[in-house]
Amino acid sequence: MPTPDKKVIDRIQGLREQINYHNYRYYVLDNPEISDAEYDRLFDELSGLEKKHPDLITPDSPTQRVGATPLEEFKTVRHSLPMLSLNKATSEAEFLDFHRKVLELSKPGEKKIRYTVEPKFDGLAVELVFNSGIFALGSTRGDGVVGEDVTLNVRTIKSIPLRLMGKPNPDLIEVRGEVIMNKEDFERLNKNREKMGQPLFANPRNAAAGSVRQLDPKVTSTRPLNLFAHGTGRVEGKRLANHWDSILYLKELGLKISQYVELCESVEQVKAYYEKILGLRNDLPYEIDGIVIKVNEFSLQEKMGEISRSPRWAVAWKFPAQQEHTRVKDIIVSVGRTGALTPVAMLEPVRVGGAEVSRASLHNEDEIEKKDVRIGDTVVIQRAGDVIPEVVKVVDSKRTGKERKFTMPDRCPVCGSKAERPLGEALHRCTGIACPAQIKENLAHFVSKEAMDMDGLGYKFLEQMVDKKIIQDQADLYFLKREDLMKMERMGDKLAENLLNAINESRSPSLTNLIYALGIRNVGYHLAGVLAKHFKSIDNLAQQTTEDLTQIHEIGPIVAESIYNFFHNPKNLRVLEKLRKGGVKFPAEKVETRVISLSGKTFVLTGGLDSFTRDEARKVIEDMGGRVSSSVSKKTDYVVVGKDPGSKYDSALKLGIQTLDEKDFKEMIGK
Ligand SMILES: [Zn+2]
Repeated sequence: MPTPDKKVIDRIQGLREQINYHNYRYYVLDNPEISDAEYDRLFDELSGLEKKHPDLITPDSPTQRVGATPLEEFKTVRHSLPMLSLNKATSEAEFLDFHRKVLELSKPGEKKIRYTVEPKFDGLAVELVFNSGIFALGSTRGDGVVGEDVTLNVRTIKSIPLRLMGKPNPDLIEVRGEVIMNKEDFERLNKNREKMGQPLFANPRNAAAGSVRQLDPKVTSTRPLNLFAHGTGRVEGKRLANHWDSILYLKELGLKISQYVELCESVEQVKAYYEKILGLRNDLPYEIDGIVIKVNEFSLQEKMGEISRSPRWAVAWKFPAQQEHTRVKDIIVSVGRTGALTPVAMLEPVRVGGAEVSRASLHNEDEIEKKDVRIGDTVVIQRAGDVIPEVVKVVDSKRTGKERKFTMPDRCPVCGSKAERPLGEALHRCTGIACPAQIKENLAHFVSKEAMDMDGLGYKFLEQMVDKKIIQDQADLYFLKREDLMKMERMGDKLAENLLNAINESRSPSLTNLIYALGIRNVGYHLAGVLAKHFKSIDNLAQQTTEDLTQIHEIGPIVAESIYNFFHNPKNLRVLEKLRKGGVKFPAEKVETRVISLSGKTFVLTGGLDSFTRDEARKVIEDMGGRVSSSVSKKTDYVVVGKDPGSKYDSALKLGIQTLDEKDFKEMIGK
């Protein structure tokens, strides 16, 4: 192999530095400087150079995060300093007890105790060892003394640097932290697993732990994991006097640190910090279950020492449980806008994580059966974030024998139509076309802020309008007259005028709002945006086959089918037509002929192209999933016609095959 010249070596070095820097901006600071496409270009260039010069690959190259083959089992690792577990406080009184002991043990000499405080992440505790700045070993906490070697797996976590930043690097540093999965990523992961028929993870912590303790690092690399560093073990070649300094130092080395770490000068400050973080709890993207309070000075930590594997200089002050016990008074059935019948547990009101809860979703018949929830049962309920509270399990020991089993009704409780459970679905659905429950829910969705945004048109009005048969579907709103509105209770001239104005102003929605407003099953606001971006108009969207739709990364077969079915339901098409007649402007951006993927399409090339050689054009088509054939037949989808085309052009015209000139072709492939 020829010795690579210095230019190549320098370029590789330069690319690695740039990629590491942008990795840091993206994964550690959440503040990228360049687009994903630019990042990919750098990464591809580096991969290409390394392929040509394999002898220049180093283990800390950003291309080397994944690549190992699956393990048979994990080796064990002995921690050089034990990873202690924290004592817990569950109330302010217990925290103050801790503080009193700190004061006692710190005598004599310490006048003022400072504490570093940080959120207590609910994840998997790990230790990372860096030798001269290079990531060398990752292990789980295990029993605190011996853990598992998960080096190959944690390497795939992008917020962990393979080479520390800042110069000079310490000879050795052991970093302690918590691997977590964000709540949103956790839900997405479970949704995908559900689709694939795989068992679901119970919570983000289990998902994070399960992902790290995977024998195949390739699987771990697909999981959206994050690492927050929160302390150090052994450190050589750098002196640190206290915990706060070590946090700043870890940050300097390029590790991800919680933005909420603070240094408190008094117990009052710690208490205020507890309240602050408790208030933030449900808004954070990840789960935390309390705060950790550490004596800041290392000298004092040493003096205090540990007792039965827990440090005496730190405590975890836990938040109140997001789970509570209560009694199921009744089980009722609510009807949603898609006609789905959802069983709901009516509860004896109880406070959970700071809010009063009196109902909890039981999801569907199978869930009730699986958990065996009965009317009269004492149950554990749980609330996380904005999620509707749910019943976790029944407390069997509280059963008296008087509990009553619940069965799903075979009629819709609102309109009395037959309720059916379609084969393969978990939900019962009302089959009534004119089910007022569905219409009302649909209308409420249609007028909501992210949809058509008709300010002031609340549920009470919509309910009256449906009950009085003033409107029957969404489009009827655009034909309302003042006298129609005046038929409603609590309606005045001024209010009627305001409502008519709001309706009028909603006539020019954005495409995303309009798609969302239609209430297509399984299409939330985010997906509506994706569809708007790809298809540019309702008309174009309506023409897509389920196959076309699944070409989009975020759209699976179930969603594709809901979209397809929606636009092939005559009733919906009538409503769309009526909306147009009612003066709703359907935003129609220029419809590009570009298809998302050329998958399954056959091309024939004829004549010379300016921007591509024949081979390049062929490669582009094949890369996008299409194929290139040498002769035109009925099976040809497109003939790309360049300068001085041959007889293939004539054949295309004869057979009526669509032809593309170079401009069309470039548009199609997005160039
Ligand atoms: Zn019904």
